[in-house]
Amino acid sequence: MPNYRSTKEEPLLEVKNLETGFLIEGEYYNAVDNVSFKVKPKQVIGIVGESGCGKSVMSLSIMQLLPKGTGKVRNGEIKFQGRNIEGLSDKEINKIRGKDVSMIFQEPMTSLNPVFTIGFQLMEVLFNHEKISKREARDRCVKLLKSVGISRAEQIVDEYPHQLSGGMRQRVMIAMAIACQPKLLIADEPTTALDVTVQAQILELLKEIQQVNDMSVILITHDLGVVAEMCDDVIVMYAGKVVESTTVDALFYNPKHPYTKLLMGSIPKLDEEVEELASIKGIVPSLKNMPKQGCRFVDRCPSAMSECRTISPLLAENEPGHEVACLLYESSKPKAEVHT
Ligand code: SF4
Repeated sequence: MPNYRSTKEEPLLEVKNLETGFLIEGEYYNAVDNVSFKVKPKQVIGIVGESGCGKSVMSLSIMQLLPKGTGKVRNGEIKFQGRNIEGLSDKEINKIRGKDVSMIFQEPMTSLNPVFTIGFQLMEVLFNHEKISKREARDRCVKLLKSVGISRAEQIVDEYPHQLSGGMRQRVMIAMAIACQPKLLIADEPTTALDVTVQAQILELLKEIQQVNDMSVILITHDLGVVAEMCDDVIVMYAGKVVESTTVDALFYNPKHPYTKLLMGSIPKLDEEVEELASIKGIVPSLKNMPKQGCRFVDRCPSAMSECRTISPLLAENEPGHEVACLLYESSKPKAEVHT
């Protein structure tokens, strides 16, 4: 497995100090708080955490799909191929969205328009970015549908979303996302709404497409099993912050943050007989109830110390290529200011 952390290659995407907030009762609260990471060409990076950790808000920030009027990027940069794309006009971002960067969502039925045929919706993506004839576009659609494992492609172009199963609809969404051969695909919980056997098929398909097209992928999931299957690197988020970031191997063999360890404990293992899977007590604090100082995981952390309530841990390299934000590690303790 390539070590993307040590390559000198320029990142395809660089997110720097990103802060995304939502307006609640006249005040902004950050759902993503000072998050930075890089995605290299061909790299598959997993972003994990429970619901409410900020994973999806981050992807919507990258795609500029935040709900207008309530959500906004308040700080930071989102660089794609070296160019800051944060704050581009709708016209400018539309040139990138769907062409260079595309996205698939959890629930394909809500992403597909029920009143248009599959072919119409697929062709729309092509027409948005390429000057081709209707005939050419239709042929491309059939090819695309076949490439994502849809066998009755010639018929399905003329069918409506409700005529397809959930797995087939997700395949259509993948076909739409890769229609213009994007360099980066953001997949937000792409298999969560599907049953287990279909989940495995869709993951297999995504893996194959990533390799054939040399795409980078950001895979957003709450499922560490999916991360182990697909990813090179992984970022663990909690309450809007990155708490651990490393390679998949390091995360599975040597998890450092107490939250990551608890997430690991909640994965079923085939070689161990357990009566009940471990769960993490409590819930992620809501945006309005986020602790103002100290570690945001403190109320749920089995290793919490008194200083965790007052000192905010820094995300810092603890071992080469392995960053963690937890006061159990010297590297995460803020250095005292030296006054001269
Ligand atoms: Fe737990 Fe303290 Fe580490 Fe936070 S900083 S994860 S509360 S030990």
